[in-house]
Amino acid sequence: MVGSVTFSDGTQVPALGMGTWTIGDRADRRAQEVESLRAGLDLGLRVIDTAEMYGGGRSETLVGQAIAGRRDEVFLVSKILPSNASRRGVAESCRASLRRLGTERIDLYLLHWPGAVPLEETIEAFERLKAEGLIGAWGVSNFDVDDMADLYRIAPDGCLANQILYSLDYRGVEYDLLEDDRRQSVVTMAYSPLGQGGELLRAPVLARIAARHETALGPATPAQVALAWVLRQPNLLAIPKAASLPHQRQNVAAADIVLTEADLAAIDRSMPPPRRKVPLAMI
Ligand code: NDP
Repeated sequence: MVGSVTFSDGTQVPALGMGTWTIGDRADRRAQEVESLRAGLDLGLRVIDTAEMYGGGRSETLVGQAIAGRRDEVFLVSKILPSNASRRGVAESCRASLRRLGTERIDLYLLHWPGAVPLEETIEAFERLKAEGLIGAWGVSNFDVDDMADLYRIAPDGCLANQILYSLDYRGVEYDLLEDDRRQSVVTMAYSPLGQGGELLRAPVLARIAARHETALGPATPAQVALAWVLRQPNLLAIPKAASLPHQRQNVAAADIVLTEADLAAIDRSMPPPRRKVPLAMI
C-alpha cells in the first residue's frame, strides 16, 4: 500500500505522485498519457506534478485534460520559472498556468530553481496568490541546504516542499538535505526517482534484488526496486513519470515491496551513500 506524507499545513497526500515532464510533447501519445494519469487517480494516487516550463505549457494543458471533471481527487503541483518569479511575473505566470490546467487553484506552487529575482519578492508574490486563493501553498525546487537556509531567514514557516533530484544514482542529498528538510518540516519531493528510465534500471544489483521479490502484478522489476528504495524514506513524496498504463500500475505496486537489510546492504555496496557533502545535482 502507498504510504502518505503530511505537509506542515496538515494536508496529507499519498507518498507516491505522478510526474509529467515531456507528456503532451508527442501528439500520438497524448491519449495514452491522459489514460495513464487517470489510471493513477483510479489507483488512489493524488499528486500530479507539472510546470509551466514543460513543453512550454503542453504538459499543463494535458494535465488539464486528464483531471477534467476530477479536480477534487487531485493535489495539483506546478512550478514557475525563476525568470518569471518577479512580483508581476508570478501573478501572470500563475494565471496562465491556471488557464492551461483548466482550474481555479493550484494546490502547491513551486519556484522551479533558485534564480536572479530576490527570494523576498517571489515569496511575497506567492503569499499574495495564496491570499487570493489562486494557490493553496508554495514551495521550492532544486534548493540545496544553503539555499534553504537563505529561505528560512526570509520565511521561517511558509515553505511546504522542496522538490529535488533523488534516486539511487544521485544519493548526495542523504548526507544533509533530506535530514535538513525533515527537521524544518518541509516535505522532500523526489524527482526522477527512476533515473529517467535509463542506465540505472539496468544495474545488475537491481535485477538480483527484483528476483527476490513478488508484487501483486507478479515478479518485481528493477524499476520497482529503485522506486521502493526511494519510497522507504520518511517525509518523502516520489513523483515518477509513467506515460503508460502498465508502468503506472507497476509503480503503485512497487509501494508494497519491503526491501530487506540484505537488499539495502547490497545496494549500498554497489551504489554507496555519500561520505561528505555533495552539491545538489539538478537535471
Ligand atoms: P523518472 O525517473 O520518473 O523516469 C521516467 C522514465 O521511466 C520514463 O521513460 C518512463 O517511461 C519510465 N518508467 C516509468 N515507470 C516505469 C516502470 N514501472 N518500469 C520501467 N520504466 C518506467 O524521470 P522524470 O525525469 O520524468 O522525473 C519524474 C518527474 O519529476 C518529471 O516527470 C517531472 O514531473 C519531475 N521533475 C522535476 C524536475 C525539477 O527540476 N523540479 C526535474 C526533472 C523532473 P514511460 O513514460 O514510457 O512510462
